[in-house]
Amino acid sequence: MKKTKNACVIDPSESKPIIEIVEKKNINLKFILNTHHHYDHVGGNNELKKKYGLKIVGFKNDKDRIPEIDIFVENNQTWMNEDFQAKIIHIPGHTSGHICFYFSKDKIAFTGDTLFSLGCGKIFEGTYEQMFSSLNKLKKLPSDTKIYCGHEYTLKNSMFCAQYEKNNKNLEKKIFEIQDKIKNNLPTIPSTIGEELACNIFLRAKNLEDFSKLRDLKDNF
Ligand code: ZN
Repeated sequence: MKKTKNACVIDPSESKPIIEIVEKKNINLKFILNTHHHYDHVGGNNELKKKYGLKIVGFKNDKDRIPEIDIFVENNQTWMNEDFQAKIIHIPGHTSGHICFYFSKDKIAFTGDTLFSLGCGKIFEGTYEQMFSSLNKLKKLPSDTKIYCGHEYTLKNSMFCAQYEKNNKNLEKKIFEIQDKIKNNLPTIPSTIGEELACNIFLRAKNLEDFSKLRDLKDNF
């Protein structure tokens, strides 16, 4: 695809930092992509739409709770236009309408509050089974897919993983890298599917029962 200044923003919790970077880099902001309706993911929708006249993309079943939504997408659909192409993967559990935007050509997945680096989201609207099956969908993405998630919880998540998987050398190495990044004021995101398969105990849970136990333990961690 040709290079343009056209861009999307994923889950803007607020507008101000987005406006700053758009102005500074002279970006043409065309779309907001919302993974789910929680306020800390859609808080910038109204103002950014007003300012840039962009279009807001979200899951069709959440049309009544994603502010200012314009474009409704559904599971397995490929959302595309002249600049962007992303596959929509419905991954309920955290919320019933949670989706992942998977840009296969760019090898990038935006996983919102479903898959975090070394963790997974809390189950607010779904069942353990739904969350487990949603994570299994993400596990099937190519291992070099970069994961951009909704929160920087990696350090705390790493402590939980380390407590329940003590002899995982890959995890030890990843924790070392995470601590180094944080020390240098760098984000720990993106991770990759391959790294998460090797280190994230929620992805490594053998079955629904093990997964559910871990999820309960993490809620009280
Ligand atoms: Zn959320």
